[in-house]
Amino acid sequence: MTNFLLGKKQTFASSSCTVQPIIMDESSSPPPMNLKSLKPKEQVQHQSAVNSSHGKSSFILPNSGIDKLLECPVCRNTMFPPIQQCPSGHTLCFSCKNKVNKCPICRKEIGQIRCLALEKLAASLQLPCSYHHLGCTEMIPYYSKLQHKTHCVYRPYACPHPGSDCPFTGDIHELMSHLKQCHKLDLQAGSTFNHRYVKQDPHSVDNCSWTLTLFNCFDRYFCLHFEAFVIGCEPVYMAFIRFIGEESEARKFNYCLEIGGHGRKMKWQGVPRSIRTHHRMVRDSYDGLIVHRNLALYFSGNDQKVLKLRVFGRIWKETWGI
Ligand SMILES: [Zn+2]
Ligand SMILES: [Zn+2]
Ligand SMILES: [Zn+2]
Ligand SMILES: [Zn+2]
Repeated sequence: MTNFLLGKKQTFASSSCTVQPIIMDESSSPPPMNLKSLKPKEQVQHQSAVNSSHGKSSFILPNSGIDKLLECPVCRNTMFPPIQQCPSGHTLCFSCKNKVNKCPICRKEIGQIRCLALEKLAASLQLPCSYHHLGCTEMIPYYSKLQHKTHCVYRPYACPHPGSDCPFTGDIHELMSHLKQCHKLDLQAGSTFNHRYVKQDPHSVDNCSWTLTLFNCFDRYFCLHFEAFVIGCEPVYMAFIRFIGEESEARKFNYCLEIGGHGRKMKWQGVPRSIRTHHRMVRDSYDGLIVHRNLALYFSGNDQKVLKLRVFGRIWKETWGI
């Protein structure tokens, strides 16, 4: 079942009639009166009144099968312009049209016919967000649905674990359980930390060397990344913090990291990046504390055979502007 159907089912589960127009204006505000209490004929009259005041119709027809009309029979995805049709009027999406020569329904040759009527009908629809079941209550104009889906704050988070391309996605609660159970990560409480990184063979820096630590403070979750990689020909170590949540929330926090030894110290103060931003993007923008290997080995205070770095850190809530 598509998300389209799921959203509709949840929104209109209490509907008693088969076709029940729900009128939504451009700002997705609730209908001006309880349409469910009206009889179908009265609903239609009410809809036209609202439409004339807005000058544009925008509605959903639950259980009308319109979602099936807008589903490509080949790939089963929702169709977007240019919607194609065969000489008999069967529709399919543009990308499938380019893959098949004949109509999947009637086997006639598919020409260059565009189904403008269906495109216009789709333009008048508002749909529940694909993440309705995760809490998003927005109603989205049909053609904005994919764009909204990409940016919806209710969309599941990808696993922030940098070691592999882990396919797990989920909300924050599910993510934390996953990180603890599947990646065996510890969760540390408190806004200050003191970590020691030991690497036995510091002269073999590679792009896959990393460590991840989880923190819980201010009722939020953060992860500290420590990665070894190469800038140009120069091996470096980098530490940065990501926030397990949205970017807008992440900006409310600051953090600092310190690495040093032998009376020298490097300090970085930054703003956590959301885990919506891939750790490689954070790394490649150098948004964190970067220590060159020679200096890191000097900080390690040994014969340069073992890397021993101590990282102090603190996270705090930014209070200015409140
Ligand atoms: Zn298709
Ligand atoms: Zn056909
Ligand atoms: Zn949404
Ligand atoms: Zn994972």
